[in-house]
Amino acid sequence: MPRQGRIMKAVDVKKNDEVQVIAGKDRGKRGRVVNVLPRENRVMVEGVARAKRHLPVRPTARGGQTGGIILKELFIDLSNVMLVCKECGKPTRVGHRIDGDVKVRICRRCEAEL
Ligand SMILES: [Zn+2]
Repeated sequence: MPRQGRIMKAVDVKKNDEVQVIAGKDRGKRGRVVNVLPRENRVMVEGVARAKRHLPVRPTARGGQTGGIILKELFIDLSNVMLVCKECGKPTRVGHRIDGDVKVRICRRCEAEL
């Protein structure tokens, strides 16, 4: 049986990056990354994969109410999103370039630093 090597794939998507969804029901949507779980290969993107969450309704001291329904984003698989290049504005695969001691992310389309 072939053994799966434990290759650590670096996660190239960071918080506040703009990404485009390339698969699933939110395909084509763009949004800002609000959270990344690198170990699980999952990202949370603003406005993508929103789910309704019901909060218990409780009376407040002033006679109002709290609770009701809020919209909350869910984590989606990292493979379902692509980074959007700030230079060319297109979803792109991420390349890397070694700049002295630092590894920088580059756009595979226009080679701009990301
Ligand atoms: Zn680009």
